[in-house]
Amino acid sequence: MFRGLSQKVYDLTGINVYLCHQCGICSGSCPLVKSMDIPPNMVVRMVQMDMNEVLNSKTIWICASCFNCTVRCPRNIDPARIINALRIIKQREGVYAVDLRKIEKLEELPQIALIAASRKLTG
Ligand code: SF4
Ligand code: SF4
Repeated sequence: MFRGLSQKVYDLTGINVYLCHQCGICSGSCPLVKSMDIPPNMVVRMVQMDMNEVLNSKTIWICASCFNCTVRCPRNIDPARIINALRIIKQREGVYAVDLRKIEKLEELPQIALIAASRKLTG
């Protein structure tokens, strides 16, 4: 049943993306959807369709892992975890959203922001 991207997501999460029936509740619940280029329900759809373009979306780095989508998904699919899996796939390719070595004026940035970025946005 699984193939390509849906297989990779399943291997990382145990989630069957084909259970998603595209109700859109995840996107309607997402506080950051207006900043995303692909809304969460479409991310899940693209994984179903084995569309690797989703790995190049801004969405996978913008998602704040707030889990609003996860608690409201009527199919218990956990879109936040799917998006996290897509980040991991990119990070395993050596692609990170933030290169900590290139940040200037480190001393002026909030420590919590740096710690959060190093945990989530780098490999
Ligand atoms: S809320 Fe769940 S079932 Fe609905 S579109 Fe999002 S992932 Fe799919
Ligand atoms: S976990 Fe990510 S995709 Fe889900 S509601 Fe929060 S910001 Fe949006």
